[in-house]
Amino acid sequence: MLRPQRPLHQAAQDRERRVSPAGLGLDSELVRSRMVGKLRTQGVRDEKVLAAMLAVPRHLFVDTALANQAYEDTSLPIGLQQTISKPSVVARMIELMRGGRGDALLPRVLEIGTGCGYQAAVLAHVARLVISVERLKPLHDKARDLLAPWRMGNVRLVYGDGMRGHPPNAPYDGIIAAAGGGAIPPAWLEQLAVGGRLVAPVARGTGQVLVLVERNERGFVHSEHEAVHFVPLKSGTT
Ligand code: SAH
Repeated sequence: MLRPQRPLHQAAQDRERRVSPAGLGLDSELVRSRMVGKLRTQGVRDEKVLAAMLAVPRHLFVDTALANQAYEDTSLPIGLQQTISKPSVVARMIELMRGGRGDALLPRVLEIGTGCGYQAAVLAHVARLVISVERLKPLHDKARDLLAPWRMGNVRLVYGDGMRGHPPNAPYDGIIAAAGGGAIPPAWLEQLAVGGRLVAPVARGTGQVLVLVERNERGFVHSEHEAVHFVPLKSGTT
């Protein structure tokens, strides 16, 4: 008599597991709020960015086997030798790109390197429109599948070579790169709006630093920030 209840019970368990995989406890938001507390102590001040980091369930963007590490401040593999960036780096870069605009949303943001789509989901909370370009088809498809349930109507995923930016939606108020090259591709500078801000890892010596480029009426102002470690920016698509 109790048998028909069993699948229902299992379905509820499965649902729970999806929302809160093993090792995360029952409430992933609680774990995330601890992560956000840590981001504050690491110096992230932009409340809009902190709210976005609280909202996006990072554990759903990594393999189930890695889900229990999802809220540690570490980069994690997402396949094809690529990684999802550390939460502190994601928050720091978006904060730098926003340049403190209070509660206002950035009109248009371009992300180069969608990867699993995590950062695109965070960006969706701080921008009205997010265009995210990925050069590896399997990752572009993976991000599309992972983002689908969230119905983020303001995120557009593009399969292509992000070194060329994405001219159809230019100019962008913010440009953020999740892969680092030797120099900033000219297309990104061309597609940056006046008043816009670009943040990208760029090679310096044997490592990389975060470079911020601000565009004003007179031209471009570059500044260098902390050392970072990103996967390489590559041209072409695969
Ligand atoms: N923001 C991602 C991080 C992905 S790692 C996340 O949240 O998961 C960086 C990504 O940049 C990789 O997926 C890599 O394939 C991609 N990439 C490297 N060069 C690129 C290029 N020229 N155009 C688009 N994507 C590129």
